Amino acid sequence: MDTEEKPSVACIGSGNIGRAWAILFAMHGHSVNLYDISKAQLAAAQQAIATNLEDLKSAGLIKHTKTVRERIRSTTDLATAVSDTHYIQESVPEQLDLKKNVMKKLDSLAEKTAVVASSTSEIPGSSFMADLPGRHRFLVAHPLNPPYLIPMVELCPTPWTSNDTLDVALNFLTACGRKPIVVKKEISGFVANRLQLAVLAEAIHLVGEGYCTSTDIDVAMKNGLAMRWAFMGPLETAHLNASGGYKEYMALFRDCHKKITDDLQISYENWSGDVTEAILEELSHTTPIEAVPKRQAWRDRRLMSLAGHLARDVLKFGP
Ligand code: NAD
Repeated sequence: MDTEEKPSVACIGSGNIGRAWAILFAMHGHSVNLYDISKAQLAAAQQAIATNLEDLKSAGLIKHTKTVRERIRSTTDLATAVSDTHYIQESVPEQLDLKKNVMKKLDSLAEKTAVVASSTSEIPGSSFMADLPGRHRFLVAHPLNPPYLIPMVELCPTPWTSNDTLDVALNFLTACGRKPIVVKKEISGFVANRLQLAVLAEAIHLVGEGYCTSTDIDVAMKNGLAMRWAFMGPLETAHLNASGGYKEYMALFRDCHKKITDDLQISYENWSGDVTEAILEELSHTTPIEAVPKRQAWRDRRLMSLAGHLARDVLKFGP
């Protein structure tokens, strides 16, 4: 954690993602103006932040909760929130008209040199940034949840985003310990969620058609594929699966890959009805609906342990 004071940033929206960004920026020495339209939501966010900071301290990822906590100030006044900030992260609900509206206000209120990034999970930035007079300083910075624990962030410029804007976002997020990737052309869902949905789709197919249970899917991932995926991706995994590397692996397994990929089923039509009920019933044995918040907190503590392990012992989040 940094102790030196750094330029102020603003987080717009204090829900799951906005408050998690606030933690990240504050951990890295920035004063954070956390804005929301709801006072109650801001109060709940500050409480959640306090709990998350205690967990981070217990995991050895920060030393002082008070210093970090005091850097995060709540406000329901947008002009105050963005005043004198060089980077603004928008995390309001995933609704196109709302994003358009909020971006318009940010463009008129923010410092003319401030970079404005949206956390949108799926909507290409050009759908809600196109009409802004200052559209050159807007882009998407999509995190995985929670962004203070998972380093990857997808930066996706619109056709009007300037190179300077992209550089500022890249440098700022890298300095906050993130591992940004650049999505060079706009695509719905960017990169990480598309990969995630491909896996989810085939999981639903396999369970839906009775090949295995949802518990088996989780075992196949957490005790199987994800062991490697915690420190290398599927392409490098393929490269190391044959002593002659990626091309040899692809040639060796060509027939097998063709047979399986012809048979994969990612159609959204398979996602509803009985299979949803069956998966939910099985998942509820481990985590009944009312226990989801407790299990989310458990997930975040496990992520903290993993983040600590990777940072200390494996690869400092990079090759
Ligand atoms: P959320 O519902 O938890 O939080 C949204 C917050 O925005 C609420 O506190 C709400 O009061 C506030 N809000 C509503 N209207 C507002 C306005 N006009 N101005 C300011 N604040 C306003 O949502 P979330 O899960 O934090 O998602 C926020 C964004 O982040 C979405 O675009 C979502 O797609 C994206 N995202 C979500 C996840 C995830 O796993 N939840 C991951 C990555 C990205």
